Amino acid sequence: MSATDDVDPIAESNDVKSDFQDRSIACIDCNEPFTWTAGEQIFFHDKGLKNEPKRCKRCKQAKNERLTSQERTARCCKRRAINGR
Ligand SMILES: [Zn+2]
Repeated sequence: MSATDDVDPIAESNDVKSDFQDRSIACIDCNEPFTWTAGEQIFFHDKGLKNEPKRCKRCKQAKNERLTSQERTARCCKRRAINGR
């Protein structure tokens, strides 16, 4: 209980945190159970995301890398389509 201006963000989110508990989810890619932490659930809640994570961090990263390269290809094609008009 110090009189500093710094409000402890953890103390502030304690009320919200009680609604969330660490959950174990089986990754749809590698079937390995991973922990969806309460903190991440709060993050999802804050962002208004409804879809629970389906992949562990490693598979999510691998998927993101796949998507990034796909996006690059898509952008490439779009550019070509626009230029082709
Ligand atoms: Zn996985």
